[in-house]
Amino acid sequence: MKGLMKTRLGAGNVEIQEIPEPKPGPGEVLIEVKAAGICGTDIHIWKDEYKSVPPMVMGHEGSGVVTALGEGVEGLSVGDRVTSETFARFCGNCFFCKQGRPNLCPGRKSIGTHLNGFFTKYLIIRATAVHRLPENVSFRAGALSEPLACCTHGILERTPVTAGDWVLVSGPGTIGLLCLQLAKADGGKAIVLGTDKDEERLALAKELGADEAINVDRQDPTALIQERTDGLGVDLAIECAGAAASFNQCLKLVRKGGRISQGGLFGKPITSDVELVAMKELEVFGFFSHVPSAWDRALRLMAEGKVLTEPLVSHRLPLTEWQKGFSLMERGEGLKILLFPED
Ligand SMILES: [Zn+2]
Ligand SMILES: [Zn+2]
Repeated sequence: MKGLMKTRLGAGNVEIQEIPEPKPGPGEVLIEVKAAGICGTDIHIWKDEYKSVPPMVMGHEGSGVVTALGEGVEGLSVGDRVTSETFARFCGNCFFCKQGRPNLCPGRKSIGTHLNGFFTKYLIIRATAVHRLPENVSFRAGALSEPLACCTHGILERTPVTAGDWVLVSGPGTIGLLCLQLAKADGGKAIVLGTDKDEERLALAKELGADEAINVDRQDPTALIQERTDGLGVDLAIECAGAAASFNQCLKLVRKGGRISQGGLFGKPITSDVELVAMKELEVFGFFSHVPSAWDRALRLMAEGKVLTEPLVSHRLPLTEWQKGFSLMERGEGLKILLFPED
C-alpha cells in the first residue's frame, strides 16, 4: 500500500512510499482509511518545525472502517465506521495521566508524529482509542473529529461559556470556526476576527452562526465590540490564529476580569503587553490536543448538528496529490483539505 512518509528529520523528506499492510496486534484494530485531514502540524512536520520521529506515515486526523480486530478486542466489530484519538500510547501512570490528561503525558506517542498515521490505506491503533462515528456523520465530516475534540476540550471543558457571554474568536481557520460553533452551542454570542486573506472564511463564519465577523485590516473591531458589550469588552477571547497581533487584540478586547484562551501556536516567542493580564485581572488558559473525555461530546455535537464540520472541507484530493494539498495549506488557501487513499 502507499503511505505518505516523513522519511527522516530535516526540512522536506516527505514522499509516498510503498509499505506493507499492517496486522493488528493484541488490543489493536485495523482501520481502512476513508478520509484524512491535513493539519497545520503536518506542514510544520514537513518543514521540520515540529518534533517528529521518522520514519513514519504522517496524518493524525481521519475516519475509516474497522477491517480486522486483534486478539482480545471487545466492543468493536468489523465494518464499524470509526474515527480515532491520536495517542497510540501514553504511560497511564504519570501525574498527568492519573488526572485524565494524557495530552500532557511526557511518554505520549501519537500517530502521524511518532507512529504510522492516517495518510495511507490501512492504519493500526489501540482499540481503546477508537470511537464509532454516529450514523448521520459522513466519513468526510468524521475526519474532522480530532480537531473538534481538541476544541471541545479547549472550550467546553477548560473555558465553558455561559448563555449570554460574548466570545471573541480571533483567527477563522479550522480551529477558530469549530470554537465559534462550540461557543454558540454553549449559548454564547460570538464575534470572529480575521484579516484580508480571510474574507471567505469570515463569510463562512457568518453562515456558521457568528453574530459578527470582522476583517481587522478594514475595520477596527474596538468600537463595535464596545457597543455590543456595554463598553465592557468580551467575556472570553479565544486566540486561534497563532499570530502576535491576534493575541494582542485578545488582550485589548477582553473585559476586565475576563478570560483568554490560547489555542494557536506561534512557533516563536512574541512581543506582547502582558502587564494587561495584571491590570485587567485576566484569567489565562490554553489548550493543546485532546483528552478522551472530549471525544464523546464532540461526536454527539456532530450527530445533533450543533457543530457542522463538513462545510469546513475546502478541497478533496487523492493521497498522491498530497503536495498540492500541503502547498495550499502552507499558503493559507482553502480551509480543511482532505486526502483520500487510493487502491
Ligand atoms: Zn491536528
Ligand atoms: Zn503519562
